Parts: sequence; structure tokens; C-alpha cells
Amino acid sequence: MIRQYELVDRVKGYDPNADEDLLNKAYVFAMKAHGSQTRHSGDPYFAHPLEVAGILTSLRLDTNTIVTALLHDTLEDTHATYDEINDIFGGEVAKLVDGVTKLSKLELTSEASKQAENFRKLLVAMSKDVRVLLVKLADRLHNMRTLNFIPKEDKRRRIAQETMDIYAPLAGRMGMQEMREELEDLAFQELNPAARKSVLKRLEFLRSESGDIIDRIARALKKELVDSDIDAQVLGREKRPFSIWRKMETKAISFEQLSDIIGFRVIVPNVEDCYRAVGVLHRTWAAVPGRFKDYISTPKRNDYRSLHTTVIGPEKQRVELQVRTHEMHQIAEMGVAAHWSYKDRVNGLSGANGNPFRWLRDIVEMLEHGDSAEEFLEHTKLEMFQDQVFCFTPKGELIALPRGATPIDFAYAVHTELGDSCVGAKINGRHMPLGTRLRNGDGVEIIRTKMRGPLPAWESMVATGKARSAIRRFTRQAKIDEFRQLGLEIMERAFEKLGEKFSEKRLRPALKKLSFKKPEELYIEVGKAELSSADVLSALFPQKTKNGAEETAGRPILPDKRGEPGVAIKGLTPGLAVHIAPCCYPLPGDRIVGIKTPGRGITVHTIDCATLEQFSDVPDRWLDVSWSDDAESTLGFSGRMRIVLENEVGALGTISTIIAENGGNISNLKLTTRRVDFFELLVDIEVTDAKHFNTIVAALHASSGVSTVERVRG
Ligand code: MN
Repeated sequence: MIRQYELVDRVKGYDPNADEDLLNKAYVFAMKAHGSQTRHSGDPYFAHPLEVAGILTSLRLDTNTIVTALLHDTLEDTHATYDEINDIFGGEVAKLVDGVTKLSKLELTSEASKQAENFRKLLVAMSKDVRVLLVKLADRLHNMRTLNFIPKEDKRRRIAQETMDIYAPLAGRMGMQEMREELEDLAFQELNPAARKSVLKRLEFLRSESGDIIDRIARALKKELVDSDIDAQVLGREKRPFSIWRKMETKAISFEQLSDIIGFRVIVPNVEDCYRAVGVLHRTWAAVPGRFKDYISTPKRNDYRSLHTTVIGPEKQRVELQVRTHEMHQIAEMGVAAHWSYKDRVNGLSGANGNPFRWLRDIVEMLEHGDSAEEFLEHTKLEMFQDQVFCFTPKGELIALPRGATPIDFAYAVHTELGDSCVGAKINGRHMPLGTRLRNGDGVEIIRTKMRGPLPAWESMVATGKARSAIRRFTRQAKIDEFRQLGLEIMERAFEKLGEKFSEKRLRPALKKLSFKKPEELYIEVGKAELSSADVLSALFPQKTKNGAEETAGRPILPDKRGEPGVAIKGLTPGLAVHIAPCCYPLPGDRIVGIKTPGRGITVHTIDCATLEQFSDVPDRWLDVSWSDDAESTLGFSGRMRIVLENEVGALGTISTIIAENGGNISNLKLTTRRVDFFELLVDIEVTDAKHFNTIVAALHASSGVSTVERVRG
């Protein structure tokens, strides 16, 4: 534990005018108030507020903030009262402690749907005094550092998830990168320990291969700069496991070289030196094109300033560099806290003239003027949570989702039942495919039906774990139901062939012989083809089947027709006839579903085909299918597009040339409308897959005579 005098010394170290007396009083007050309370770790409870205060001293915050940190849990967890704190420590501290307490209470009620509202309240709190949020972040950081002491797993996970969703991005948005990274990494450790471990293992391997490469590169960089009379400090730094993991996830790359995981910082005395340093580095080592960014002339919204570049450095490794002054460095690490130094401790947010945290001010203004949550989001253009989107239910409830989420995620986030019964969605009043990625501020209305459940293919369309697990659970059950139904039909037919009348009663004697408890179990085994109908029959009618009844086990109830040539689709029982739907023209690469039609086999539609609505009431006709990975890339798939063309001489020739140049083959062309200025065509084009089709669409778009091109579905 930090001793009383140590804490005071730390604060005095950066703020000689700190109120020593107040700090001492707060230390004693909190220690007495928490008394013999203990943490999950077994430590005295007081160790927690003390650590939180310690974190805030490293951000060099003012006396009142440190005092608030010491007192932050006294209102909630001890007998201390607001008036008492107000009397002893003054109105400002009392308000701050009260603010932190209110935020903590929000946490306790946090469910998915409440999170968004909590977030709004967070901002309200922050708008009154940003120090409330700084204390809250430090509180969360210490709680995350000691998360492993919490015995209940679901509680640990909830806290970790909330940290990942709300607090880490918030710290980042406030410019506190250090804190953001630590919060993320601690949450990552709880949420995905296996992934983190694999990153660490890989890191260790790379490290063992390259030795003290960080030092060697840092020395080489520094030498070059010092030789050019730049007083530079060079720091090499390994990125945190979560940062590496996120990069791997979002860019779908694996990290191979140490340079993917080390960043270098060059710190110089002034702005001019920043540009000179980059000049020297670019002269010495080849710069990687497209990687130079000037955040000094155009700072980021959170006031981050630096020059970024990547060079092929010493040892022929890519080296990522951030070049900045000491001041910029401090702001990059500490963000909003860096501005809260004792020097310009004025009136919080509003009083600080030239406060560079424009975004904070914008939000505060918004909160003052606009009161609907909708307006709030629209105006602030929330990039606050770069990895989240906020959407609305028709009633105006705010739903927070990860980026990339679709209406299906939305439906499940609202309620599992809504997800299970979802068949379509309106986004901002328009019918949109279920695979559409939601954007900030979208109003989402889920169209539901009683009959159907989620489709297996949805699993690849969702971004939330909640949706994914619900879909899986449902699919598993649906498969079993499908096998059961199939097994029943097979048994009925087998009986029929033998000239016997089928009934469950007549089947019963076979159950015991084959050791099943219920007929359903037998059906499922037969449906899965684990058990043949012949075996069942011979158990029942040994006489009749002696000569070997015709083998009727196996799958096909549907006629055994050949699939169309070139179609390779996974998830089908071999032997089923496959048709490509003539309404939506699915292409390899599209998300697809199959619809079973007795006597006709399977028709494959795109997941967003309008025709599918007809089948919404018959869930058992839906089939989980996907394109085979090894489908050969040959022409043979037809996609249809609608082109609106300027009515000019040669226009038609131009488009056929473009299509041919891009490897497509026009198989059918129809003029649908002709006017003086424009005409509209429907064109069927043979392509290899959806990507190929899109390339042609893009090429047509780029042509001057073409006004619109779109794919026709349904
Ligand atoms: Mn606390």
C-alpha cells in the first residue's frame, strides 16, 4: 500500500501548491470509513481507493481529483454522507464524489439494452466535470487489474465486456492511449484467454529469434538523428497483445515479423525538429509509400499530434515510427488529463479557454440543446466508440452493437425471441436485406413471423456472440427435427414396400430389440442413416425379410436428379436435384439458402431474395447451403443487371466491350425502356462468381455513358 506521506509527496512532486492538509485528511477519512472491509483479494478495502488515487497521480491530477479518488467509494459503501464530505472537503469534492458514485450505480444495472443509456449518462456526468470520468476510469483500471480475484465467472466476464465496450474506447476517445491499451488487454485476458495466449506465444518466438532487435534499431535510429544535430530520444515499444490481435482480426493478417509488433517513438524538442527528423530518416532509409501521415498540421479530434511514417530500416525490417515533441508525447499518453495540469486548473471544461478537446465541448453543447437521444447521436456523429454502432428500436430505445452488426444482431440484442422470429428488417423505414451492416443512428424495425426460426446461414451474417449462439442452438435442434422427420418418412415407406401398414404401435417391438427408449430416437438414427430401415424391418418381421427386403434406408425421398452442371454446393444430401433460382440469380460468393420442393429438389436463392418471403411459414423447407470452396472458376453462372444508359450512338457497343474486356459473356439482353435521353436494359451476364460480377458492375460504373448499373434480384 502507498503510505500517506508517499501519496502527498507524489502530488507535491508535480504540484508544489497542492493542499497537503486536505490530502492527509482524505487519506485518514477514507481509511477510517472503510475500516475492516476487505476486497475479494483479501486486501483491506482501503487499498483500492488508494491505488486509484495512485493511478491519478501518474496522470498528474490536481488535489481535488486525488481527494475524490480516495473518497470515491465512501458514499456508496460506508456510513459517510454527502453533507459530511461537503463540510470537511468542500463543495467541489462533494460534487465530484457524488458524480463518481452515481456512475458506479449505473454499472450495477447494466444490461445490454441499458448500456447505451448508461453511456449517455456517462457523458452527462462528464460534461459537468471531466474529472468525474477520470476518477471513474482509474477506478475501472484498478478493478480490472484485480479482476481475477472475483470468484464468479459471469461477473468477471460482464465487467470485462463492459470495459471493452465502454471504458476502453472512452479512454481512447479522451486521448489516454496508455490507459486504453491496458484496459483492453486486461479485458482481453478475461474474454479470450486462448487468443491472448497464442499471441503471447508467437511474440515469444519472434523475440527469441531476433534477440535485442529493439535496442539495435533504436540505437541505429538515434545515431542517424544525432549525427544530423537533432536532440532525439528514441523509444522502442512492443504493442500489447490485444492491439496485435485486433490488427490480425480486422486486417485478417498474421504477424510474421517483429516489426509488426514493435513501434518506435522519436521524441524531439520542437515541431521543426519533428519534420527534420522525418527528413533525415527518409533520406537514410527507404520510406514505405502511403504510410506518411501528418497529424501535426491536422491533429486528430482528440488532439493527438505526431508525424507517422514507416521505413525499411536498419536490418531490412519495416519500422513504424511516430515522431513528436515532448509535449505532444505527454498529450498522446495522457490525453485530457495532460490538460488538467495544476497550471490551468480553471473552471473545468467550460472555463478553460482554448481547450483543445473540441469534441467534448461539442457533446456538452449537444446535451444542453438537443434532448432526444436520436438527435444527440446524429449531431455528435459519434465516433466515440469507433468499434460500436448505436441503433434505435421503433420506440426510440437505443441499442449498442459492435461494428459490423446486422439487423439479426439487433433483433437478438433486443430479445432472443425477437431474433428467433425475425424474417426481415426495415432500416430507416426501408426494407433491407438481413445481411446489411448497421450504421450509427439507424432506426431498425424487425419483421417477424411466428413460424420460422433463424436460418443456419445467418451464423455467418452476425457479429454478436448472443446472436451466434442462439442461431446455433436453434440449428442444432432443427437438424435433429429434420432427421426425425426423415427417419419417420423412411420407415413409413419401408413398411409400405413390404406391404405392411405403418403405425408407431407396430414399430414398438423393434425399440427394445434395438435398444431405443422412444420411437423418436429410432427415427433420428434412421434419418441420420446410422441405422438402416432394413435392420428395423428384420427385427420386426424376421420371416418376411429373410430373403432380404429391398434396401430402402438412406436419404432420398426426393427424386434423384442430377444437379445442374458447375454448381457445387455444400450442405446438400448427395443426389438431390439443385436448381438456381430464376428470380435472384445467385452467384458463387453470394450468401445463399436452399428451398426444398418435394418432387423438384432444392432451389437455391440469395439470402436477400424477395421470393423467400413466400416460404416464411414453412421453416422445414429451408436448407442450410453454401457454395463449395473448390467450385471451379468457370463461366456458367448467370447474373442479371439493370443498366440505365444515355441514349447515344455507340453506347451499347461501349458496354458490350467493357463486359467482354472484363471476361464476362452476355447471354441475354433486353431493352425495357427507351426514352429520348435514356434507355434501360436488362442484361444477363455469364460470370464465374459474385466477385467477378461486381468487377463488371464497377467497370460499367466507371464508363461515362452509363448512368446507373445495379444487380437485379427477384
Ligand atoms: Mn471503486
